[in-house]
Parts: sequence; C-alpha cells; structure tokens
Amino acid sequence: MTRTIVLASNNSGKLKEFSQLLTPLGFTLHVQGEFNVPEADEPHLTFIENALAKARHAARLTGLPALADDSGICANALGGLPGVRSARYAGEPKSDARNNAKLAAELAQLADKSVYYYCALVLVRHADDPQPLIAEGRWNGELIDTPRGAGGFGYDPHFWLPDLGKTAAELRAEDKNRLSHRGQALRQLVEKLR
Ligand code: IMP
Repeated sequence: MTRTIVLASNNSGKLKEFSQLLTPLGFTLHVQGEFNVPEADEPHLTFIENALAKARHAARLTGLPALADDSGICANALGGLPGVRSARYAGEPKSDARNNAKLAAELAQLADKSVYYYCALVLVRHADDPQPLIAEGRWNGELIDTPRGAGGFGYDPHFWLPDLGKTAAELRAEDKNRLSHRGQALRQLVEKLR
C-alpha cells in the first residue's frame, strides 16, 4: 500500500531528495502546491518551531500527513545568526548574492569563521498530531570570503570544508546529499519511520 505525504514546500529539488529515500518505504510525496496550499509564515525564533508550523499548516489544509523542513546557516561568532533568517538575511527581495556578501563582511573582521548548516525535519500524521516525528542534521564548515564553485545554492560557494579542500558548491550533488544537514536529517527520519 502506498501512503501519500504532502511536502510543505514547492521546491522540486527537495521533492526529489526526499522522494529518493521515502519512495522505497512505500510513501509517495506531493508538493503542497498540487493541493493549492499557500506558503505558511515562518515567524518563529527556532528552526523546529518553523518546521512544525509549516507541517501543521500543510496537514490542516490537505487532511494528509505532512513533511516539512527548515534550515539555515549559523555563524558561531554571531551567536547563531543568520539562523532562521538565512533566506532573507540581507532583506527583501531574497538574494543569495547579497546574503553572502553581508555574512562575509560581518565575519571578515572576526577570527572565528566557523559556521554550520542546520536542518530540522518534521513529519506530522495529522494537523494536531501531539507526537510528530522529529529529526535534525548539522554540517560544520568555515565561511570564506571568495566564492568557489557553481553547484548547490544559497551560501554553498562560501561554505568551506577544510577536510575536503572544497566548498559545498564544488561537491557533486550525491556527495552533498551524503554529507549535508538535510541528508543527515532525512536519513534519521527514515530510521524513525522504519
Ligand atoms: P529553507 O529551509 O529552504 O527555507 O532554507 C533557508 C535558507 O537557508 C536558504 O534560502 C539558504 O539561504 C540557506 N540554506 C539552507 N540549506 C542550505 C544549503 O544546503 N546550502 C546553502 N544554503 C542553504
């Protein structure tokens, strides 16, 4: 029996990544746009609260189980910023180039350039589920001034992996999925689903 899950996102890249691990377990994933679900607000201070809000919103409007993720980059020297504000760190409209320039400028004068990507992933069986499945992933790196690589998205060209001598934007997609915060969280969620 296949079970349908609504993905609280319209990002086709995420749909592909998540489907790869969930289809073999008998789940089919559909993006929320297919059910005309508008994007939920993300007003909270933590990734987990935003992911839960998005999942509950999609489950409430579709009557289906819902999966949502919330992620971002956190700089240790900035107390975790940009954090939940990663997508709009340099304001509206969203711009990867301006976000990267702002974060690089803020860290330029500081000795500690350590950053990490974080992902919270939530699956609710229904909108008021009191016991959502929760998974998380964290990927450590360093922020570099000069961008490198053309893959990935967002902060990837500045996200340096000292052990690999590459940025996240220089990794093949399958290598990024194996290492990334989102890949880790998804595999953890799959373990819990089993
Ligand atoms: P969201 O969870 O898809 O809303 O992502 C939030 C923001 O965090 C993105 O717009 C990016 O700026 C940043 N981000 C999250 N994951 C990644 C990643 O894997 N690479 C680069 N940037 C990321």
